[in-house]
Amino acid sequence: MHDADTTVAGHAPDHAAGHAVDMAVAEAGPSEGTPVRLKVHSGLCRGLGECHRWVPEVYELGDDGMIGFQLLEVPAELAERARVGASVCPERAITVIEVHPGDRR
Ligand code: SF4
Repeated sequence: MHDADTTVAGHAPDHAAGHAVDMAVAEAGPSEGTPVRLKVHSGLCRGLGECHRWVPEVYELGDDGMIGFQLLEVPAELAERARVGASVCPERAITVIEVHPGDRR
């Protein structure tokens, strides 16, 4: 009888994928208003297209369906969207690098 009450506390059930994305973005994007640099690890990209499906204004795919760039500077107004695209990549092929003012390399 007591066994039925021993569920795993704090283990949230899986909801819609969009919900998980919202949470990932909230965790990943503390510095709104800062430009970012995207680095794509092309060896990891499998051309699944999730980045483009969610954020087509940032993530363009090549004719082969693979991500179309290796490095991309993203202005501050699109930085949050860039983080969304990176967070939905199943291969974790996209790294978001914060670009701080005066950090011009
Ligand atoms: S979501 Fe990831 S694996 Fe899919 S195309 Fe974009 S970078 Fe490549």
